[in-house]
Amino acid sequence: RERLLAWREAFSGRARVVLGTRSAVFAPVSNLGIIIVDEEHDASYKQHDGGFRYSARDLAVMRARGANVPVVLGSATPAIETLHNLDSGRYTRLTLTRRAMRAAPPRLSLIDLRAHAQSGGLSTPAVQAMTAHLAAGAQVLVFINRRGYAPTLLCTACGWIAPCTECDARLTVHLAARALRCHHCGADAPLPQRCPQCGFAVKAVGQGTERVEETLTSVFPGVPVVRLDRDVIRRPGELEQAMHRIASGEGRIVIGTQMVTKGHDFPNVTLVVVLNADQGLFSSDFRAPERLAQMIVQVAGRSGRGERPGEVLVQTEFPSIPCSPACWPRVTRALRAPRCGAPRSGLAPVQPPRGGARLSG
Ligand SMILES: [Zn+2]
Ligand SMILES: [Zn+2]
Repeated sequence: RERLLAWREAFSGRARVVLGTRSAVFAPVSNLGIIIVDEEHDASYKQHDGGFRYSARDLAVMRARGANVPVVLGSATPAIETLHNLDSGRYTRLTLTRRAMRAAPPRLSLIDLRAHAQSGGLSTPAVQAMTAHLAAGAQVLVFINRRGYAPTLLCTACGWIAPCTECDARLTVHLAARALRCHHCGADAPLPQRCPQCGFAVKAVGQGTERVEETLTSVFPGVPVVRLDRDVIRRPGELEQAMHRIASGEGRIVIGTQMVTKGHDFPNVTLVVVLNADQGLFSSDFRAPERLAQMIVQVAGRSGRGERPGEVLVQTEFPSIPCSPACWPRVTRALRAPRCGAPRSGLAPVQPPRGGARLSG
């Protein structure tokens, strides 16, 4: 009913500004003057489910062209196809010369994981930097784009890896919940103590937010840690509570997934540590490196928005890959370039005919 009312307001022209998420691109605006798509790179503009699949950003561009009005795509980290449209002269670049509320962009440096010891996913230089920033009274943000305790449960005797019985993904260890969960299809299984194949003890391998929280608590005893991921933030009120603990300064270290990149400002955070930057580099999804680079730039933007400039440390085993908010277009091109299969400007889904054969593997 509320939706119908809003629709009528837009249709009649009484509403002069129509603001909305993805489906607002279909709003019946009678006298359209301009369309603004903020955070145009965001994957949520794409409707994947249901019968009608579309990209609201691309539809906005089409609609603006049809109505002969300008469309503004806003982003600090434009999608690669948008950069392509800039290069080919289809789009015009407008640059913001001043940053909102921030004097200097954060300083970004890489930590070569091949050269430094690490414990629990934290390298020695990262721990040293965190110690210094905490001692200066600032807050620290640790970013790892993986929730749960560990991404793999492994038998060290026979090599068994906990598989999902519903799909072909691996199960993630959730220690507090004593469960194995599939982050791909949502399947659940109890956490075994011993290998179901040979009976030997099993071992959780790798890091997720839950385990990093445990590591941080033992490396920095007495320093309050706030964790932000879908396992601890399940209801809307819980996010506000966590944000309040961070804003009030009670939480000194924030550990989180991409949930921390979604527009929240942490003015007292002066250090951002990105733990598993390499994860996106070897995905079968050609967009993964682009998303990774976008995420690093977005998470870097969380730091130093107050008076103090921010510092960003990215742990990686591939320090030769360029990575700086200042050279964003170069970053995405460098990441995408070696992948010949990746489209530069557009992508059309190809589906097998009904009843047709489907090959995979
Ligand atoms: Zn085994
Ligand atoms: Zn699954």
